[in-house]
Amino acid sequence: MIPRLYVPVELKPDHVFAAEERAAHYLRNVMRRQAGDPIILFNGRDGEFNAEIGEVSKRQVELRVGALRRPQMSVPDIWLCFAPLKKDAIDFLVEKATELGAAAFQPVFTQHTASTRLNLERLAANAIEAAEQTERLTLPEIRVPLSLPDLLRSWDPARRLILCAEAGPAAPIAEALNDLKGTVSISNAWAILCGPEGGFARSELDLLSNLPFVTPVGLGPRILRADTAALTALAVFQSILGDGALRPPAPLLPIGQLPT
Ligand code: SAH
Repeated sequence: MIPRLYVPVELKPDHVFAAEERAAHYLRNVMRRQAGDPIILFNGRDGEFNAEIGEVSKRQVELRVGALRRPQMSVPDIWLCFAPLKKDAIDFLVEKATELGAAAFQPVFTQHTASTRLNLERLAANAIEAAEQTERLTLPEIRVPLSLPDLLRSWDPARRLILCAEAGPAAPIAEALNDLKGTVSISNAWAILCGPEGGFARSELDLLSNLPFVTPVGLGPRILRADTAALTALAVFQSILGDGALRPPAPLLPIGQLPT
């Protein structure tokens, strides 16, 4: 297995640099790699590169960047706005939502949010690990936590907010997103908002449902746990409006055959 690592440095062919502590520890102590071993690097901006391990010492692990492997690609601009959950549920949510291609995480404190603290460093570390695993070229952005009123005050109305509304008459998510696909002049900026374990307060749901940029959706007749709900909404979004709706690129033409 060739390790694939995120590194927070500029990447270009022939660049040589010392891996930061996390990557150095992983390569030297966990994977037991040596000078000359291949690795793959990405930084979220410059694409993905073949690379090689240079000198390995107690003090540092040197990395040498080789050829560009894949040019940078963007992900659909879909934010996941979520009320902080218990630690295990957040770890799970961030890992899986990164795999599903969330472009950003926006923590939101609502009236019934039980957790009052959120470890953003842990959140970022989980996102990096999942991005490495899943061959993403980007890292999800981790946004500063806000209260729901502050989030809505600063909201860009061009970004459509898909509200997971557990109670009430909201349209089923697939129907609602297919309708949006046909009617909205799409600015292509999206967000999903899910409530905490305790759900939204009635007043929050009323407030949200009356905002012009909000589309309330239902996820079926069962009450899902907050992490399940967020991931379900994200998966459905990706398959209707996001990159799950794309077909893989057409195969290359055989040599000598030109398109007519
Ligand atoms: N209010 C519930 C629990 C909330 S579930 C209770 O009675 O305790 C946590 C969050 O998941 C909700 O706020 C909502 O955003 C989302 N959710 C769960 N099930 C859902 C469903 N069937 N449809 C839409 N959203 C749902």
